This record gives sequence, structure tokens and C-alpha cells, in this order.
Amino acid sequence: MIDGPTVEERAATELLGGLVRRRRLARAHRATLDPAAPPDLEPLSAEDVVAWALRRFHPRIALACSFQQEESVLLDMLVAGRSDARAFTLDTGLLFPETERTASAFEARYGVTVERVGGPTLDEQAAAHGERLWERDPDGCCALRKVEPLRRKLAGLDAWVTGVRREQSPTRAGTRKLEWDARHGLWKLSPLADWTLDDVRRRIAERGLPDNPLHGRGYASIGCEPCTRPGAGRDGRWSGAAKTECGLHR
Ligand code: SF4
Repeated sequence: MIDGPTVEERAATELLGGLVRRRRLARAHRATLDPAAPPDLEPLSAEDVVAWALRRFHPRIALACSFQQEESVLLDMLVAGRSDARAFTLDTGLLFPETERTASAFEARYGVTVERVGGPTLDEQAAAHGERLWERDPDGCCALRKVEPLRRKLAGLDAWVTGVRREQSPTRAGTRKLEWDARHGLWKLSPLADWTLDDVRRRIAERGLPDNPLHGRGYASIGCEPCTRPGAGRDGRWSGAAKTECGLHR
């Protein structure tokens, strides 16, 4: 039988791991911010990416929050770093009731107000484009209710944080933890880029974080009620249509 590491060996390994982590973080803090050659944050943990981002950008940085599991984990990290960390949501007026209740749970747990950013009212949209635009032209509907409000919001920031993970879909496989978002003209951070869904669920359970109950009913990804069905990854978004993204990230 092979003996496991001794207490002293474990302590030495932890000490070494801590030193490596601090050295990586210090190197990242010293790095200059050049959109053409962004600092490489890939070796950093999600917590360290969040710490780096807050130190660089707060208060001109905010989390884009859709009240899913990824944002629950990220908001937990952000408020641990700054109790006045900022978050906003794209309020399409078409969210599930379960998502609205999860929003209240987020604000109670994290002690923050998630700013609501919206497009035209549903009546205004119907008057201009007809009823239930999402059934005939989901790209047009997303442009009005998500893409344009996001553009307006990001114009007042230097960086935004997203819950994008590489394994969610082929369109997200190339996501970096830090990227220059040329379309919106600011820095984009995806601290959970290399996390698996199991990693996210484990953290939710360990920390007792708010969790949209729809996840437990087979909805891996949750958006507007008319356009979301149960499904793995992003399979349940615009199910049956070629569309896979709102246009926020790609
Ligand atoms: S997800 Fe559907 S309802 Fe929501 S903005 Fe896009 S098309 Fe409209």
C-alpha cells in the first residue's frame, strides 16, 4: 500500500500553490492594457480574475446578470471583493415568473440592486412591428429588447463581466477570460470560461447560493419565456430554429 502525503508535505504543497497564485496575480496587475495584446488571465482562477477586474475597473465595471447559476456564482465573488459591486439585467419584459422570483432572491442574498435596462415596452413594439415579433423575427426582437439596451448600457462602462463558459456551445468555445470587446469598445471578462456545469453546480451547493428553480426542471439555459424550452447547453434556446445566440456575445 502506498502512503499518501504527510501533513508536512500537504502544507508545503499548499504553500507553494499560494505563492504561485500570488505571483500570477501580481504579474497580471502589473500588465498594461493593450486591446491588441490583452494580458493573459487564463492561468488565473475565477476568483483571481474577479479580483483583478475589480481592482482595474471598479466602479466602471458591471456584471451582465440573467439570474442564472453562472451569475449567482459570479455575484458571490464580486460582492466578496466589493460590497458595492455593480450588476445589471436586460429586462425584456418577457422573463419567466421563476426568474423574477430568483431576481428578488439575488438582491436579498447579495445586498445589491440589479439595475434593469430595457428596450421599448411590449405595446410600443407591437405598435411598430406587430404582435409577438419573437415568433416571426426573433433576431429583430432580440435586437430591440436586448442588443440595443446592452449597447446603451455598455457605453457608460470600461468593462463588463459575463457568465459565458466555453462548453456551453460551439459559438462560445473560443471565449477568453479577458478579451477586448471591439464591437462595444470595452473590456469583457468571462471568469468562468473554463468552468464545467458541474463546477458551477458544486459552487452553488457549497455556498448555498440562489438558484433559478427552472435549472432543476431541465432548463440548462434560461432566457425569455416565449423562446426557452428545457434542454442541455443552449439547446432549449429558440428550439427548432437556427438561431442560437441573442447577439450579445457574438
Ligand atoms: S429571446 Fe425571444 S422574446 Fe426575448 S428578446 Fe429575443 S426573440 Fe424577443
